[in-house]
Amino acid sequence: MSKQINVALIGNPNTGKTSVFNALTGLNQKVGNYPGITVDKKEGICKLDRGLKAHILDLPGTYSLNASSLDENVVIELLLNKNDKDYPDIAVIVSDVENLKRNLLVFTQIKDLKIPTILVINMADRMKSRGISLDIDILEKELHTKVAIVSTRKNEGINHLKHLISNYKSISTTPCLDTSTIDQPYFDRLKTAFPNQELYKLWLVISQDANFGKMDRNAIDISEFKTKSKSELKKLQQKETIKRYQFINNVLKIGQKIDVSKATGLRERLDRVLTHKVWGYVIFFIILLTIFQAIYDWATVPMDFIDATFASLSSWVKETLPPGNLTDLLAEGVITGIGGIVIFIPQIAFLFLFISVLEESGYMSRVVFLMDKIMRRFGLSGKSVVPLISGTACAIPAIMATRNIENWKERLITILVTPFTTCSARLPVYLIIIALVIPEGRFLGLSYQALTLMLLYLIGFGMAVFSAYILNKILKNNRKSFFVIEMPSYKVPLFKNVALTVIEKTKTFVFEAGKIILAISVILWLLASNGPGAAFNDAEHILETKFSSINGTELENKIAAHKLEHSYLGIIGKSIEPAIKPLGYDWKIGIGLVASFAAREVFVSTLAIIYSVGNSYEGDENTLKNRMATEVHADGTKIFTLASGISLLLFYAFAMQCMGTLAIVKRETNSWKWPIIQLVGMSAIAYIVALIAFQFIN
Ligand code: GDP
Ligand code: MG
Repeated sequence: MSKQINVALIGNPNTGKTSVFNALTGLNQKVGNYPGITVDKKEGICKLDRGLKAHILDLPGTYSLNASSLDENVVIELLLNKNDKDYPDIAVIVSDVENLKRNLLVFTQIKDLKIPTILVINMADRMKSRGISLDIDILEKELHTKVAIVSTRKNEGINHLKHLISNYKSISTTPCLDTSTIDQPYFDRLKTAFPNQELYKLWLVISQDANFGKMDRNAIDISEFKTKSKSELKKLQQKETIKRYQFINNVLKIGQKIDVSKATGLRERLDRVLTHKVWGYVIFFIILLTIFQAIYDWATVPMDFIDATFASLSSWVKETLPPGNLTDLLAEGVITGIGGIVIFIPQIAFLFLFISVLEESGYMSRVVFLMDKIMRRFGLSGKSVVPLISGTACAIPAIMATRNIENWKERLITILVTPFTTCSARLPVYLIIIALVIPEGRFLGLSYQALTLMLLYLIGFGMAVFSAYILNKILKNNRKSFFVIEMPSYKVPLFKNVALTVIEKTKTFVFEAGKIILAISVILWLLASNGPGAAFNDAEHILETKFSSINGTELENKIAAHKLEHSYLGIIGKSIEPAIKPLGYDWKIGIGLVASFAAREVFVSTLAIIYSVGNSYEGDENTLKNRMATEVHADGTKIFTLASGISLLLFYAFAMQCMGTLAIVKRETNSWKWPIIQLVGMSAIAYIVALIAFQFIN
C-alpha cells in the first residue's frame, strides 16, 4: 500500500482555496458535512511523486484562529486535535497576491502551532496588472516556509506545489513569533501548569473559550486554569494580533513591492454602476428575471423529455415483464419514483449554473451589499433574495442555494420560509380551481381569474416575508452578527469551478434527497395500489356486474376510481373527512390532499382518477372541470363553490405538501427537527387560514 499524507487547505475566504483544491484533485473529490453541523466538508485525493498520495481537505474560509463563526471553529478544532484522522501533516495556506498582508495573519498563527506549512500565493496572473512584485527568497527565509506562486486560472504553479507537498519532510516548523511576550508572567505560569503542552496551542484553547463558548471535543482541559476574565483575554488577543501585523509588515517591507500607479480603474467604474441606487437594482432585477426564466421556462424542455422517457420506460417494463405485483412495483412505484427525482435535475443545474457564475465573477458580493439592508429587517440576508425568487420555480434548488448564506440564523430562516413562495407545482392546482370557482368577469380590464392568480403569488411572498419577520424574533442568534462584506475583484468565471459546482449540487440532490423521495413514493404507491377486503381486490368483478352495459375505457376508469376509493390511501382520505369538512371539502378532496403529500401537482391527476375521467381533462364533454362542477354533497349542495374553492386555494398556498422539499431541508439542516417543524407549522397555518376563509365566505 502506498503512503498517504493529510494536507489541509487553509486561508481567508475568496483566496482560491477551492480553485487550488479543484486543480489538485480534479474529479477525485467528494463533499459531505462535518459531524453534527452543516458546514461543507470537501475532501479529495491527489497523486504525488513516487507513489505518494495526498488526502486534501478544503477547509472553510477563516480570517484567523480566533473563531467567530461555526466555519472558523471547524478549522480550529481540527488544528487543535492531533488525534483527528484529518489532522494535517502539512497545512497549505492559500493567499491572494493582492491581499497578502491580511492573508498572512492566519499563516503566522498556524506556523506558531508548529505544523509544517507551505504558503501558496495565488492569483499570480494579476501581479503584473497590479504592479506587484515579490522576492520569493526573502519571503521563504523570513517566513520560514516554502512558497508556491500559483495561478489556478492559468494552471500555473500547481506542479511546483505538488512537488513541495511531496517533499513535506523537509519543511521547517520554526514558528514566526513568540506569543508569550504579550504577557510574559501569565505565559510562564501557563507553562508551569501544563508542562507537556505546546504553549501556543494552550493559548488558543483558552482564548477560544472566550470567543466562541465551549470548545467541542478533545481539547485540553483548562477548567483548572482560569485566571483571566473574558475581557482580559480579548485584550491579549488584540495585542497578539497587533504583534503579528508588525511582524508581517516588516516581512512585506522587504519582500514585496507595489507600484501604486497601476491601481484599479475598471473595478471602481463597474462598482459605481452595479451598486448604484437605481441602476444597481435594475440590473439585479434583469439578472433575476433571466434566472427565473431559465429555471421556469428553459428547464421545461429537458423536464418534458425526462417525463416522457420515464413514462415510456414504465409502460415498457409493464409490457415486457411478466404481469404481477413485482412488475407493478417496478413500473409504477420505483420507476415513477426515480422519475420524480430526476425531473428536478434541469432546474437544479440551471440555478446553480447561474449562481456559481454570479459568485465566481464577484457580482454576488455586490448583490449582498445592495439587498442586505432591506432583507436584514426581516431577519434575512442579502443573499436570501436568490432563494426566494428561485422558489417561484421550485423550492428544492432554492433551498440548496441557501448554502452560501454564512450566518446560520439567516440561512435557517430563509430555508424555513422559502416554501411559501408559489412554486410551479402549485400552478396546475390553482388553474383548475380558479377556472372552476372564480367568475369570468373583469375588473378595470383585468380578468378576475388572472387577478386571483396574481394575488396568490403575492400572498405567497407576503407570507414568506412575514414569517421571516416572526422567526427572526423567535430564534436566538448564535453568533455576533458582524457585517463585513468582502468585495472581491471582478473576474471572468472559471469554467472548471462552475462545472464542478453544478455537478456537485446535482449529485447531492440525487443521492441525498433522492433516497427519501424514492422511499415515500414507493410507500404512497403501495398505499394507493393495495387495499383490504373484497371491495378493493374484487373491484373488476364488482363493477363488471354492476355496469354490464358500458364499454372498455369508461369501465376501466370506473374500476380505477373504485380501487382508489377502497385502497389504503382512499381509506386514509375518507377517515380525515371529519377534519376537513369544516374547510368545505369532502372525502374525494381528502384523497387528493393525502396523495398531494408526495407532490402538489398529483392533486389534479388523483381527482381525475376519483372522478373517473381518465387522464385527459381537456377537450371533450366529460372533462375534469365539468365533472368537478357537477359534484354535490349528500344534501345536493355543490362541493366546489366560491367558498370551498378559495379555501382550497389558500390551503395549497400555505401547506407544506412536497416531500422533495422536506427531504432537502433535512439534508441542509442535518436534522429532522426543522423539516418536521416546517411540515407541522405550515400545515397548521394552511388549515387555519382555509378554515377561516370557508367559514367567512360560506
Ligand atoms: P475560496 O473561497 O478560497 O474557496 O476561493 P475560490 O476558489 O472559490 O475562488 C474565489 C475567486 O477567485 C473565484 O472567482 C475564482 O475564479 C477566483 N480565482 C481563483 N484562483 C484564481 C487565479 O489564480 N487567478 C484569478 N485571477 N482568479 C482566481
Ligand atoms: Mg471555497
